[in-house]
Amino acid sequence: MEMALNICEQEIEPGSRHFFRMRVASLLNGSDLTISLHVIRGEGDGPVLGLLAGVHGEEYYQNRVIRRLVNETCPDELSGTILAVPVANPIAFSHTSRRTPDPPDSTVDFTNLNRVFPGKRLTPLFGSMEPTDVSLTMKMAAVLSEEVISKCDYIMDFHGHRMNGALKKMLYSPDDVSGEMARIFGLGILHDPIGGESASAGPLYGCTGYAASIGIPGIVPEIGGGGHSEPFERECARLGVHGTKNVMTHLNMIEGEIVLPEKQFYFRRAPHVRAARSGYLVTDIEPEDVGIGRPTREVSKGEVLGTVYNPYTLEEVEEIKSPADGLLYMCRISGLVHAQNDVLAVADYEDSKWIE
Ligand SMILES: [Zn+2]
Repeated sequence: MEMALNICEQEIEPGSRHFFRMRVASLLNGSDLTISLHVIRGEGDGPVLGLLAGVHGEEYYQNRVIRRLVNETCPDELSGTILAVPVANPIAFSHTSRRTPDPPDSTVDFTNLNRVFPGKRLTPLFGSMEPTDVSLTMKMAAVLSEEVISKCDYIMDFHGHRMNGALKKMLYSPDDVSGEMARIFGLGILHDPIGGESASAGPLYGCTGYAASIGIPGIVPEIGGGGHSEPFERECARLGVHGTKNVMTHLNMIEGEIVLPEKQFYFRRAPHVRAARSGYLVTDIEPEDVGIGRPTREVSKGEVLGTVYNPYTLEEVEEIKSPADGLLYMCRISGLVHAQNDVLAVADYEDSKWIE
């Protein structure tokens, strides 16, 4: 007996594809704000897998991961259903911005979509808990939560670094099923800051945090960044698609072969290095050094990885040094930095382990 599946008030039949525009609000420019949703229901029974990109609008290339997965998945070769959201925050996406820009009420609008799931107030604002008393970004979160996330058995939320930055690491919800999805994705470098002893240390947030709170396992592949070359972007997209197909094979949604790296690095401590002074960062780090198309670059504590100079006096004002022995998993390329901008991050060998 097949399970009935209703999406956007429509019955989804086995072996079918659908495209929906989920309505959020009408904008002052006369257009409707909608969030696009692709639905592929396979002929065979299986789980519902949610795929999201563009929760942060400047993380744009992840759109290619969703596009490839939607185009390369045939309903007659699929068991289960894919719910794919290529652009979760279209306003931020159209401005290449992390947050929703120019909110109508900037003092109370929580504009980072990944901090307002499920789009309902959890604590009162000015004494109000009314579900309608939410920001536009929260309304987007509510639509995604109701129409997509709550209907999934598993969630994957794709992220990366901002413009001129690069990143490679996997985050995952602190349950065993999520941990296994993260391993099977095979990105090779996994951040386990909330697992084990520190499980109760931090609040869960974001799309997968909300999913975890209602019992849905989830992972956050963080791959690549914006503004790099086509070969770099293509390799990032390949990693995203490969890992997702590994997970889909693991969940018996498609037939395939799970291909994993020989060993994967699990780290706990990940010190970010920030520029203490504003200026011009000059670094020999390349975006590929985070492990895109080549092994992740090994760095040692105290190693000078870049300098910042004052663009007015032209004097060198700061050396950027590795804070630990470890693997460079996040960086930005040469260019202007503001004081306290993060410049790089290192997965510390201390408290870390390789798993084969
Ligand atoms: Zn992000």
